[in-house]
Amino acid sequence: MSKDECPFCNLETGRKLIAESNYFFSIKDIFPVTVGHSLIVSKRHCSNYFELTKEEKIDLLNIVDVVCELLRNEIKAYSHGELHPNPSTN
Ligand SMILES: [Zn+2]
Repeated sequence: MSKDECPFCNLETGRKLIAESNYFFSIKDIFPVTVGHSLIVSKRHCSNYFELTKEEKIDLLNIVDVVCELLRNEIKAYSHGELHPNPSTN
């Protein structure tokens, strides 16, 4: 898939970022299948994990930890009724 056809390289502008690192950003899925359903997207177009550089893979693991911690807090708030049950409205 070319960069021009890639849905992740052509996301609409204005999406709220959950987190951002040097090589990745995270956003909520627009069709969440569960509370907290999120995506971590490479800023550089690549077809799969194996095309990432070693530095990008390390950065990916770091942002996964950041997003997991944010989602843990969000799910905890959800279970305590602090957030709306429809994750797309938060
Ligand atoms: Zn892409």
